[in-house]
Amino acid sequence: MSFHVPRQGSASEATLVALLAARTKVTRRLQAASPGLTQAAVMGKLVAYASDQAHSSVERAGLIGGVKLRAIPSDGKFTMRASALQEALERDKAAGLIPFFVVATLGTTSCCSFDSLLEVGPICHKEDMWLHVDAAYAGSAFICPEFRHLLNGVEFADSFNFNPHKWLLVNFDCSAMWVKKRTDLTGAFKLDPVYLKHNHQDSGLITDYRHWQLPLGRRFRSLKMWFVFRMYGVKGLQAYIRKHVQLSHEFEALVRQDPRFEICAEVTLGLVCFRLKGSNTLNEALLERINSTKKIHLVPCHLRDQFVLRFAICSRTVESAHVQLAWEHIRGLAAGLLRAQEEEKAEMKS
Ligand code: PLP
Repeated sequence: MSFHVPRQGSASEATLVALLAARTKVTRRLQAASPGLTQAAVMGKLVAYASDQAHSSVERAGLIGGVKLRAIPSDGKFTMRASALQEALERDKAAGLIPFFVVATLGTTSCCSFDSLLEVGPICHKEDMWLHVDAAYAGSAFICPEFRHLLNGVEFADSFNFNPHKWLLVNFDCSAMWVKKRTDLTGAFKLDPVYLKHNHQDSGLITDYRHWQLPLGRRFRSLKMWFVFRMYGVKGLQAYIRKHVQLSHEFEALVRQDPRFEICAEVTLGLVCFRLKGSNTLNEALLERINSTKKIHLVPCHLRDQFVLRFAICSRTVESAHVQLAWEHIRGLAAGLLRAQEEEKAEMKS
């Protein structure tokens, strides 16, 4: 298998480009089998699938691409599994719809969970659906062999994307997209007006990435990646990722030592989802205190119906001392909040 790597500006663009290519591919296949079939007739029946934990850019790609997008319920570990996907597929096929595209996420935004490529991949293969892997954040970690088991099943992917600008020390923007079959992309988007016909294109000596993306012009992103690779080397980049993962586990251990708090999802890479045991209102109030103090900044999420705080290790210069400091700060604010709550309750009683 050979992969080709155009660099997009963002993971959102990569998902959209993959979806549009998949849309063209399935439409052409169906029209070849039934020549009278119109594009509009096919478009109205196309369905794409992604886990209920997928990033909003996936839903957006469906909106822009004019196709239905089905959210597949993830399991207890926020993973998209075969059974839930298969169930949705069967329902849609029975209703006369055409499943054509699946996005599997490696490292979801909310809690850094991983869809099972080994389960989802064979279904895509059997049903002739395009499998796009969105590894926007977590993809950088696969530079370390110990995380590569999370990639098992990637051989089923038609396209794969990750953002070196998120976690591989490359400046914004840089999003690397692999495509299994280049003609699936170039065949979908290639137009050659006379003012863009240059001799070198016809010679086949260069790859013209304008056929692989939305914009015509392209930024030159290769050099900044090259400089990072030269400066850090593979070992340096691995050490950087490993340090962040180790620090997130350090924070996880601190949270677990405090019985007032709970960990809300498995910690695999640099993200820790946690909350105070108690109501969503309590955790919203804690976040308000944390962010308004402006010492650290946390971005929250919802996991099912729970409001959850996310501690993300993402700074180039972060050290254990920062993690310890952040935790002491959070604990202090939580203690103040719980005390205020108790006082309020006591006042109400008296
Ligand atoms: N996919 C995932 C899993 C993400 O976490 C994000 C952003 O956080 C995106 C897609 C969107 O990335 P971009 O800003 O590159 O479009």
